[in-house]
Amino acid sequence: MNVQKKKRGELIVLSGPSGVGKSTVIAELLSERSDIHFSVSFTTRSPRVGEADGVNYNFVTREEFERMIAGDELLEYAEYVGNYYGTSLKVIQEKLDKGIDVLLDIEVQGAAKVRQKCPEAVFIFIMPPSFEELSRRLHRRNTDSEEVIADRLTKAQQECRQIPQYDYLVVNDTVTAAAHEIIAILTAEGCRVKNRTHLIEGV
Ligand code: 5GP
Repeated sequence: MNVQKKKRGELIVLSGPSGVGKSTVIAELLSERSDIHFSVSFTTRSPRVGEADGVNYNFVTREEFERMIAGDELLEYAEYVGNYYGTSLKVIQEKLDKGIDVLLDIEVQGAAKVRQKCPEAVFIFIMPPSFEELSRRLHRRNTDSEEVIADRLTKAQQECRQIPQYDYLVVNDTVTAAAHEIIAILTAEGCRVKNRTHLIEGV
């Protein structure tokens, strides 16, 4: 019986409306699962208060982003409420090849592209307990204008229509419960026989 580490990491795609609390849930998840690599996306949006370059996002200009698109450097990208967001292919490829699990926090158009390119990835959608609660959370964040908040709420409704395309649905009622549900999903995924073939080689 072979008990070596798995050969390839798992790609985990997390989507959910802006303001649903994904970043907080992800922070909680990573504090308990420090073996997961969080993919820091590239974006043309401006940093919010408290956000740091290279930590929350790699903040780049539109010209730089368009150069990356032209150079085929992105696994996926999308335009969301007037800004580009995208995932670097090189970084995640290196991690997956080393057997490290990689977490992507991306919106639904990007997730659809990943689904085409990497159908074996795990797709998880986080939804708010209600749209009223989502609106409260977006206002409480105090970072966006009324117009941007209205755009994000409309977008949230459109995004929720894509939920049937996902493998798992988590409701972010409390951060701890949502993070624990995701950990349970990842534990179960890790136990799938297809993800444990390294344990049965030669059996
Ligand atoms: P925010 O501006 O609130 O940080 O992010 C807006 C949306 O962009 C969120 O739904 C977030 O999941 C998504 N997003 C962040 N990074 C990426 C990325 O690399 N690709 C795509 N397609 N969406 C992303």
